[in-house]
Amino acid sequence: MLYKEPAPIKDRENPFESMMSRFNIAAEVLGLDEETYNVLKSPTRQVIVNVPVTMDDGKVRVFEGYRVVHSTILGPSKGGIRYAPDVFLDEVKALAAWMTWKCAVVDIPYGGAKGGIICDPYSMSAGEIERLTRAYTQSLIDIFGPDQDIPAPDMGTGPREMAWLMDEYSKTKGSTVHAVVTGKPLVLGGSLGRVEATGRGVMVSAMAAMDKLGMDPTKSTAAIQGFGNVGSWAAKLMAERGVKILGISDVSGAYWNDKGIDIEEAIAYKNAHNGRLEGYKGAEMMDPDELLTSKVDVIIPAAVEDVITIKNVDKIQARLIVEGANGPTSYKADNIINEKGIMVVPDILANSGGVTVSYFEWVQNRMGFKWTLDRVNERAERIMNESFERVYAASQKYNVPMRIAAYIVAIDKVAMTYKYRGGF
Ligand code: GLU
Repeated sequence: MLYKEPAPIKDRENPFESMMSRFNIAAEVLGLDEETYNVLKSPTRQVIVNVPVTMDDGKVRVFEGYRVVHSTILGPSKGGIRYAPDVFLDEVKALAAWMTWKCAVVDIPYGGAKGGIICDPYSMSAGEIERLTRAYTQSLIDIFGPDQDIPAPDMGTGPREMAWLMDEYSKTKGSTVHAVVTGKPLVLGGSLGRVEATGRGVMVSAMAAMDKLGMDPTKSTAAIQGFGNVGSWAAKLMAERGVKILGISDVSGAYWNDKGIDIEEAIAYKNAHNGRLEGYKGAEMMDPDELLTSKVDVIIPAAVEDVITIKNVDKIQARLIVEGANGPTSYKADNIINEKGIMVVPDILANSGGVTVSYFEWVQNRMGFKWTLDRVNERAERIMNESFERVYAASQKYNVPMRIAAYIVAIDKVAMTYKYRGGF
């Protein structure tokens, strides 16, 4: 029987258009010339692969995968690989472009890329995922490389998949190439602090924003959508700074506690229950649709794209949105957010702690030397704070919201580099 792939979710906004609408505003503010505009907006290459994989039942299934390199102007392209049933090309294209802007905002020498495979990793065995990862790596062997294109984890992938990718690449090249991928297990050349890096960066940028808004973390409340790697680490580190986390959610539902959720307990529960909060008793169940519009000071969408939209933006009560996910806010909701005077720390700034520590991992691999956790955290925190200040200063200078300011900082940097490098 032919396996039928699930259809992409059609009723959500096109993420590439969403990215472009912000890019266009920033390009106009900057007065970007037409030539540079055209170069910067066009992805350098978009590869679609079909990889046959032998499943555990002996049958061969063909998986569709993507790798989009958006830009290599600043350096080798960098970006994660997403395993999800509904991943689609325009989404990967947007995510690749966001990687370009993200790396530019934090001033690290990388371009942007992203990969994806249409699959449901939660219904596959480890062996099937391993064979899929190795087959995908082989099909992109000429694209990947420590000086060309460096993948990393994203939704549905983690250190395990990165280890397989590194091994497959290394076998083909005939020697161990640690720096071809980041987010690896520690024993394989991974960096201390990489797993928690994105969540830590979310916390650092939330603290910086609260400081600007005159909010005292110990008197503030937050709700966090998504309790995967990013959301759970952000929750834990925010709670350590005294923020009361009233609501959390994952695919199993949303959980609320007026007195504040014991985040350590929730993480321990999740780890003991297959990565899910299902059945967690430290909070009441609530309607997941109400989590982001609940009465809290800070909301942190840390799951998927397109969750703050014109359907719910009117009801948002928070003063601050810190985007742990990529593209969680629909561009159509931007104006209402601005009218309401809500500050947004945009995705390309707020979640850039992950790629920053990926960069440190790559640097350590190339040095053949390991940094201490303190060194990783101290340097990542400094980069996050400096980047926040750079974006904040641009928002003041151009009188634009933080999101557009972040695009301005990023586009300006890539455009300037392009000018120096020149075209054909
Ligand atoms: N997938 C992560 C992101 O969206 C990390 C990318 C990386 O470390 O290269 O930022």
